[in-house]
Amino acid sequence: MFFAGQQAAGETFPVHLQKRNAETGEVQTEVRQWSPKETAIVVCDMWNQHWCKGATARVGEMAPRMNEVLTAARDKGITIFHAPSECMKFYENHPAHKRALGIPADETVKNTLGGEKWNGGLPSEKDKKYPLDQSDGGCDCEPKCKGGQPWRSEIAALMVDENKDFVTDSGVTIGSYLKQHGIKNVIVMGVHTNMCVIGRPFGLRQQICLGNNTVLMRDMTDTMYNHQRSPFVSHFKGTDLIIEYIEQYICPSMVSADFTGKERFYFNGAK
Ligand SMILES: [Zn+2]
Repeated sequence: MFFAGQQAAGETFPVHLQKRNAETGEVQTEVRQWSPKETAIVVCDMWNQHWCKGATARVGEMAPRMNEVLTAARDKGITIFHAPSECMKFYENHPAHKRALGIPADETVKNTLGGEKWNGGLPSEKDKKYPLDQSDGGCDCEPKCKGGQPWRSEIAALMVDENKDFVTDSGVTIGSYLKQHGIKNVIVMGVHTNMCVIGRPFGLRQQICLGNNTVLMRDMTDTMYNHQRSPFVSHFKGTDLIIEYIEQYICPSMVSADFTGKERFYFNGAK
């Protein structure tokens, strides 16, 4: 385990990867040594507010630990992209957003991603069954929350370093920066695993399309899943199922322990 500040410049750090055999689902683990200079984190949609009260509360519960992860990663020299989609107005005058706006778009990246496009599935997912019925939007509350778009910014508990971090919701911008700076390893965290994390223009599938070593931080995520829908398991078991799907058909996962040196994060309701 490594701790913040423990590492000298130029050194690598270990990441404990977990994936699953595409045919059998068998768990496979592997330890890789990554260079901080070749590694970035993308924080997906950790909004200040969601239309679902339960989802908003879980983001609030997870954010302090995620901030610890980001602090430790930043201290190592890892590049951090805050990507609160549809909230760029809030960051209009923020140095971290202005610097992101100055990143030139790479034509190859742009063409590979097809612009700012959602990705609905990789070839490796062809004919695979999504493990959750999320067709009702995934609100797990009683009474049900009304939809809407109340998000305005990233949750304030996540510190944005004005001098080091970037704020952008552009997949082309993030992908271009990674390519221009020789960053090959991309850790995606945030919400919601089964929707935005997997499908956004900067999400897991598009990172795979760019050929990046893509990893989901599986204890720093949450799903939109209603336990009253198929497969009728608890909310947190639903998250586990989508993580298993990702590990089997999309990319490996890791836990925050590789950065914090603490036990992985669990939501109170999941213990
Ligand atoms: Zn709700």
